[in-house]
Amino acid sequence: MKEFFVKTERKCQVIDITPRVQTIVAQDGSTDGLCCVFVPHATAAVTINENADPNIGEDLQDALTKLVPEGVWRHDRIDDNAAAHIKATIIGPSEMVPVKDRRLVLGTWQSIMLVEFDGPRERRVIVQIR
Ligand code: ZN
Repeated sequence: MKEFFVKTERKCQVIDITPRVQTIVAQDGSTDGLCCVFVPHATAAVTINENADPNIGEDLQDALTKLVPEGVWRHDRIDDNAAAHIKATIIGPSEMVPVKDRRLVLGTWQSIMLVEFDGPRERRVIVQIR
């Protein structure tokens, strides 16, 4: 198991982590297999989508904010971040990507994204290849 850390800079942010995951995949002993990218956090998530247009990340955040309003949930009485928990649950904490010849098998427009919903924070990203 390998890991790296990402410091997010805003409350809501989408960060392309593909180069860091690809570096781990290239250094791993397996030429072919599956790469699991996982965040051990309850208010951040991992997804795969386009990075060529950064508006897609902003649009994703805006769409989730329309779906999940702020400040109306039971958990907000505890630490005021229920919307972040719900959004993280919708997107999910992990993605699985095939590996071939020590390369992530991603589509031309696909990138692996860390999705922050309650930043800024330091986020841990775990990469497991089998
Ligand atoms: Zn909370």
